[in-house]
Amino acid sequence: MYPTLRTDVERATWIDKTVTDLAAFGERHRQELDTANRANRFPREVYAELGRLGYLGPLVPTEYGGLGGGVAEYTVISEEVGRHGLVSGQIAAQGQRWLLDWGTGEQKERWLRGIATGEAVFSECISEKNAGSSFKTMKSSAVRDGDDWLLTGSKTHINLGADCDVTLFYAMAEEGLTSFLVDMTLPGISTHVTRAIGLRLIRTADVEFDGVRVPDSARLGEAGEGLATFLSTFNISRLGNASELIGLGRRALELGLRYAAERQVGDSMVTDFQGIQWMVADAWTALQAASLARDDAALAHERGADIALHTTTAKRLAISAAEQASDASYSLVGGHGLYWDTPYTDIANDIKVLKVAGGSAEIMRNYIARRILSDTGHQGLA
Ligand SMILES: Cc1cc2nc3c(=O)[nH]c(=O)nc-3n(C[C@H](O)[C@H](O)[C@H](O)COP(=O)(O)OP(=O)(O)OC[C@H]3O[C@@H](n4cnc5c(N)ncnc54)[C@H](O)[C@@H]3O)c2cc1C
Repeated sequence: MYPTLRTDVERATWIDKTVTDLAAFGERHRQELDTANRANRFPREVYAELGRLGYLGPLVPTEYGGLGGGVAEYTVISEEVGRHGLVSGQIAAQGQRWLLDWGTGEQKERWLRGIATGEAVFSECISEKNAGSSFKTMKSSAVRDGDDWLLTGSKTHINLGADCDVTLFYAMAEEGLTSFLVDMTLPGISTHVTRAIGLRLIRTADVEFDGVRVPDSARLGEAGEGLATFLSTFNISRLGNASELIGLGRRALELGLRYAAERQVGDSMVTDFQGIQWMVADAWTALQAASLARDDAALAHERGADIALHTTTAKRLAISAAEQASDASYSLVGGHGLYWDTPYTDIANDIKVLKVAGGSAEIMRNYIARRILSDTGHQGLA
């Protein structure tokens, strides 16, 4: 695993340790995680333990309690989180990127350490009932009132919306889209837990802001810079999505193979059938291609290159690879996999959610097409 990310001995050793640690963590908490997932409950204690072990703060410097790593470390953690069905730290990683890139000294002091260590839970309040893939129809408003702002709006699909301590709230101000770091204990905020089909360990909620008063120091970036703050974490989110999808796909395949190797059908084992073997070979190939594209994006980031096309390509490939692996797992297992509360179904549902959340498969394809057309002067690829 991670053949191209093992760029030096120190990193290779860290990767091996992380893979082993997170597998053991998954074993230790399997029952608790499965129960929480099926009950649509955020296991805050397990999340905090991941934070204490250093796995929630990959991008944060050590002086703020983080790992002091880069996107390569982040992708390894994300893939293993997907592979062992752990609580995702992806939203925390986005929060870290936002604070590191845009936060004032005061904002970093207040939130960065907590988010990196799992003591403070972060969420992002962007989507609304009528504003998902496009912000143009966003209705939430931010209105100045003396030195403060009044924030009003209804957000939906918010992972950890009802479980977080701080959220990044996007709203339209007179100057345009603007983001605010909001302490969730402030008056005027209410939440309602919702039941998505997947990623239930970081369950979703509707979040209502009704004239929430925040000081100007809660603003992240300048008023009107909301699109820029949003775009600054888009690579992190796509790489995290891609890595979790690859991890989920690997797990689906591993579990299906483990079952099929012991399942007798007539005189054969399921894994003796060539049709099944080819399905496994194709899913493995797709996962390998997605991993290489993902690693390529992480390494390009370390070279300081523009990685938007790399991360988008990686997510696009990872969606198809994970779906292919999940389909193969159902073929390996047959009817016994096709029930609620089986790992195969939990994984398939997580994959469905990651296909849409954080930028849908269609939006990935639009972006790739736009870049190919503009980079080649609309001539197509020679
Ligand atoms: C479980 C879950 C968790 C989520 N977590 C969060 C969160 O924590 N915070 C947050 O703010 N949001 C979150 N989201 C919202 C998510 O980002 C949006 O669902 C996503 O951006 C798509 O928006 P939409 O659902 O409104 O679909 P729409 O924008 O209404 O799109 C509907 C369909 O049309 C397709 N489509 C849209 N535009 C185009 C186009 N130009 N070309 C081709 N096809 C297009 C879309 O791909 C989709 O299939 C989450 C969503 C889910 C389901």
